[in-house]
Amino acid sequence: MIGIKENLDKVRQKIADAAKSTGRDPDEISIIAVSKTRSIDEIRQAIDCGLNILGENRAQELCEKYKLIGQQARWHMIGHLQTNKVKYILDKVDLIHSVDSLKLIKEINKRCKRQNKTMDILIQVNISGEESKFGVDQHELMELIHSAKNYKNVRIKGLMTIAPFYEDSEKVRPIFEKAKQLFDNIRGMELDYVDMRYLSMGMTNDYDIAIQEGSNMIRVGTGIFGQREY
Ligand SMILES: *Cc1c(COP(=O)(O)O)cnc(C)c1O
Repeated sequence: MIGIKENLDKVRQKIADAAKSTGRDPDEISIIAVSKTRSIDEIRQAIDCGLNILGENRAQELCEKYKLIGQQARWHMIGHLQTNKVKYILDKVDLIHSVDSLKLIKEINKRCKRQNKTMDILIQVNISGEESKFGVDQHELMELIHSAKNYKNVRIKGLMTIAPFYEDSEKVRPIFEKAKQLFDNIRGMELDYVDMRYLSMGMTNDYDIAIQEGSNMIRVGTGIFGQREY
């Protein structure tokens, strides 16, 4: 037994503590159960525990699991997405967290337009600079958002960021704080083609800090399912 239920109870408690420590309502924070590398059986257990959004980081893996799980849960794409994979996931996912280029926006838009649908996306912003090669640099974020204006079949719903791993998890706080500032700034602009609603930040090691800094969508894998075995 892997104890998904027990793990999830702990995660929910930690969310509640983090939210309350900053006067927030825990109910406004969504948990994305990161199911990459997990078996169908584990995923079904998670769904039985009430987790209804699954996050996958590879298009192919998402499609394989979707065949078996389908709409028993909602699916989010959270990992780097190549333009040639877009077509496989558009009819399966509700939200793509990892959009970081105009090229990708154009491809999503083109495909959605053909199907007469709109896709919700988050712009992945790379705050820390060095660690990850994915995510738009924070100084290029506004340019990307402005250039998305003409692609009506893509709807920007917020931002996503991944903090680097530090032994001392407190070191991620300024990164999340910065992401929240960017989020609030963009929301304050009231652009009619942007609907800033979700700030996706926080993983197993740092979701409590992310929540304290304003995250309303956390992506948790290990904390729910235990250590990943590749
Ligand atoms: C794997 C992954 C997570 C979850 O990581 P854990 O440390 O297992 O919680 C979150 N976000 C992204 C983008 C991931 O690839």
